[in-house]
Amino acid sequence: EAQNERESLLIALGFARDYFVKNLQTAEGKSIGLSYFKERGFTPAIIEKFDLGYALDGWDNLLNAAKSAGFKEEILLKAGLILQKEGDASRVYDRFRNRVIFAIHNIGGKPLGFGARILTKDKNQPKYINSPETPVYHKSEVLYGMYQAKKAIREKDNCYLVEGYTDVVSLHLSGIENVVASSGTSLTEGQIRLIKRFTDQVTVLYDGDAAGIKASLRGIDLLLEGGLNVKAVVFPNGEDPDSYSRKVGSQAFQDYLENNSSDFIGFKIGLYKEEFTKNPIRKAEVIREVVQSIGKIPDPIIRSVYAKEASGLLGIEEDIIHAELNKILLKSQ
Ligand code: ATP
Ligand code: MN
Ligand code: MN
Ligand code: MN
Repeated sequence: EAQNERESLLIALGFARDYFVKNLQTAEGKSIGLSYFKERGFTPAIIEKFDLGYALDGWDNLLNAAKSAGFKEEILLKAGLILQKEGDASRVYDRFRNRVIFAIHNIGGKPLGFGARILTKDKNQPKYINSPETPVYHKSEVLYGMYQAKKAIREKDNCYLVEGYTDVVSLHLSGIENVVASSGTSLTEGQIRLIKRFTDQVTVLYDGDAAGIKASLRGIDLLLEGGLNVKAVVFPNGEDPDSYSRKVGSQAFQDYLENNSSDFIGFKIGLYKEEFTKNPIRKAEVIREVVQSIGKIPDPIIRSVYAKEASGLLGIEEDIIHAELNKILLKSQ
């Protein structure tokens, strides 16, 4: 029974994907959706590769198309495609309206849900509307772009991790295919397990703003805890991988990644660089921050390799780092 329901939901989601993709070729879709993608530099090939689409303006376009194709409202509701009207559950309407659509695939390429971006600068509406958690879409177990990236992740033995849908698409346009997005939610253990099926090396490319840096710090510790080798790149303030790659071009972007990726120790020191040299109290904070992260690493040999590196980079005796590490490790037992 549950298996049957999952099957029905996947079929409905596949129908919705086809429908959104087709909408992009209608008159409305071309003049609004396709032109939006073109402005962002998305090519027809990349639009096809990512199942990008368009949700028509109106309350019941998908609803009616799906009902005509034989789908029951109950299934469309459970798939997260339609919503019940507040105060009148018998009335339903499309969740995604007048937005461009990013299909979110499982690693086999089947759509599990959608992200939908607004086309205007209207601040009263959310920039993105995403599918809810459903019986087939468990957000904590899915990474956007993994279906298109998995082969390249294996080949390169590295996975770039970005924040947004458009960052994934843009990196592909820049010739970088080993990239996935956590899509606005903070990274989870399930997502890390998914990455570990393909590589044990992650490079974090979060947005160059306060939120992005905060998310990087959280993500880095979780990745270290998962036993992964972690690097990070910081972008200039206000830039994300999409905006920056379009600004400088794909060659300069690839060079930037090469020249600016550092391990987590370099990343943390970089964040505090200024205060670090001048103020001993701040310096002690940075040391504690770095040691905190080293303490997340499960393998004692790798831990001690990083303790040595930290000692050199921070200019502090290795013994002191180990003493601090032991305190942390005792506490976490
Ligand atoms: P764009 O370049 O189109 O403006 P972005 O990906 O750079 O999009 P960010 O604001 O950096 O957008 O957000 C990163 C990701 O977080 C988005 O791709 C999306 O998955 C998610 N997100 C952003 N805003 C919202 C929102 N209001 N509701 C739900 N998810 C959101
Ligand atoms: Mn951001
Ligand atoms: Mn962004
Ligand atoms: Mn962006």
